[in-house]
Amino acid sequence: MDSAVRQFVRQRAEDCCEYCRLPQEAVDATFHVEHIIALQHDGTGDPSNLALACDRCNLYKGPNLTGIDSETGAIVLLFHPRQEGWRDHFAFRGPTRANRWSGDLQSHVGACGFCGQVETSQSKFSARL
Ligand SMILES: [Zn+2]
Repeated sequence: MDSAVRQFVRQRAEDCCEYCRLPQEAVDATFHVEHIIALQHDGTGDPSNLALACDRCNLYKGPNLTGIDSETGAIVLLFHPRQEGWRDHFAFRGPTRANRWSGDLQSHVGACGFCGQVETSQSKFSARL
């Protein structure tokens, strides 16, 4: 994947993970440009099949296209950032997973509904939703 495509994907995503909306500036690890439909499932390198993802979302999703709904047990398609709206699938719920942290809970204000990534700055997180 060439650098122009990576730059395009990063700019389109406004430098935020397209799954959890975590801004790149909030973490040290560089976000991945990932294939929404993995190459092993005949996905392509076309920008319409690429998304910017933080480490946790990218590792959690992997090459998967579906998951099992924990409430119904149904097999469901995973969120597709090019075809679906983030707000149709996720919501900012505040410190819903803050109990996973043993540190300063006051600074942990947001959690991703996809991967559980916890954001440490409310202004950075909510400004991008
Ligand atoms: Zn993420």
